[in-house]
Amino acid sequence: MKFTTPGKPVDVATVFPELAGSARTTVRLHPWRGVATARESSLGGPLLWPADEAWPMCTIDHPDPRPLTSAEGQELERRRNELHDAMNALARAGDHATVGAFYREYEALEADIRKARREEYADDPAATLPMVPIAQFYRRDLPELPFPDGTDVCQVLWCPTDHEPHYGPLPQVWWRDAAKVTEVATAPDPDRLLSDDGSLPVPCRISPERVVEFPGWEDLPSDDLRERLETWEKGQEWRYGRHLSVAPGTKVGGWVSWIQSPVRPECDRDHRMDHLLTVASSECGSDAWQAWMPVETQARTTFARRVRFAMVDGSTSHTTIGEDEKFDPAAWTMFGKAVVPESVVESTIPLDDDEPEGLGLMLGDIGDLYLFVCATCAERPIAVEFQCT
Ligand SMILES: [Zn+2]
Ligand SMILES: [Zn+2]
Repeated sequence: MKFTTPGKPVDVATVFPELAGSARTTVRLHPWRGVATARESSLGGPLLWPADEAWPMCTIDHPDPRPLTSAEGQELERRRNELHDAMNALARAGDHATVGAFYREYEALEADIRKARREEYADDPAATLPMVPIAQFYRRDLPELPFPDGTDVCQVLWCPTDHEPHYGPLPQVWWRDAAKVTEVATAPDPDRLLSDDGSLPVPCRISPERVVEFPGWEDLPSDDLRERLETWEKGQEWRYGRHLSVAPGTKVGGWVSWIQSPVRPECDRDHRMDHLLTVASSECGSDAWQAWMPVETQARTTFARRVRFAMVDGSTSHTTIGEDEKFDPAAWTMFGKAVVPESVVESTIPLDDDEPEGLGLMLGDIGDLYLFVCATCAERPIAVEFQCT
């Protein structure tokens, strides 16, 4: 399938020549549902995993919803729940100092419960979860990745449940030589009970597209440039941050489309790490579709109009109407309150979002997971950042 990002209405590097040196190329992956083979690049599997190599398991203690059955175990859980309720009541009353004092006791109880669970459930599935395939990139498709010498496949797997410190999935990266893999392993089924559904991708093929990007708003080199961009935006229908700089969605390399503030990871040897991969819950937000929704996707999408307005009591609201419908502020009331007619602002939005065709992920609250790699260290250490709206 072909996906083409719309051409930019404005070349920001012509208007602001100092941006020319910050241009980077990202590879938008444009996931679409379809099953690749293990000898092809894909998102969500299948992987060229050697049959004689153990499937990776995450061995961090995962949340386990099963109750304990022994009398001692039930007593521990009763005390834990009682303490939990007491801490909540104190927090509501604003007594955070006492909550803090109880926290150590709470943690000790949690540790005892976990130990009891290990004893009661000898086959404890929460102790180890099979990791799930997220991405596989062959060098021939993504030559811009920092493949270590002698490798031509990059594989990303993650554990599909929340992990500290970001409360998101926990990824790992493998680099291997495809020629050395003869027999291919079958991925184990994910643990449906303990996995977070939103972290289990639907297998997709990819259609890599290279797009030139400029630094996101907070990655710009100076406040002075941000101020000049703001002044320039006043006469434009385009916004630098939303439309003209960084591509949203699942992509390799280039700038990062931060949901929150930028982070700049370094490896243990103080090398600046590079953006390796973004895995996104959404390929294109409804506010930026004009710039980033591929023209082929636009042709398949139904559009509607979003109408925002102020009410006479000072509150604001919005509604969605069909493309051909007309919004009449005089005839619209909400809880008996009238609309201020001159406050009405309409914009076109995609009615069907394109997500059902893609990976189908929901990471936290429409979050993105960012992976970084050190291209200098031979073992290619990675760093992970997870951000939500
Ligand atoms: Zn895990
Ligand atoms: Zn390094």
